Amino acid sequence: MHIREFQDMMRQIYFHHDSKRGAKGTCLWLVEEVEELGEAIKGKDKKALENEFADVLAWLASLANVVDVNLEEAAMAKYNQICPRCKQVPCKCTRNFQP
Ligand SMILES: [Zn+2]
Repeated sequence: MHIREFQDMMRQIYFHHDSKRGAKGTCLWLVEEVEELGEAIKGKDKKALENEFADVLAWLASLANVVDVNLEEAAMAKYNQICPRCKQVPCKCTRNFQP
């Protein structure tokens, strides 16, 4: 499955809800799911971790649908085979990637 196919699937399942909620409300849900993912990575429950990754991806796709952004096109326009900053594979950037 391609990213655009996943996004289309999310549109078919949820767009009637997502469009009513709007960009701000959908973004808040995405942020909440990212926070839940952050909690899940602290634990040892692999299934719970997988569920949180799935939720983050689903809400990201929902938000992209609400604001009419094609995730696959946007991602590939920026991250097409190379690091967009240093233009290297693997990335040779030394700044902004430290915890
Ligand atoms: Zn880089």
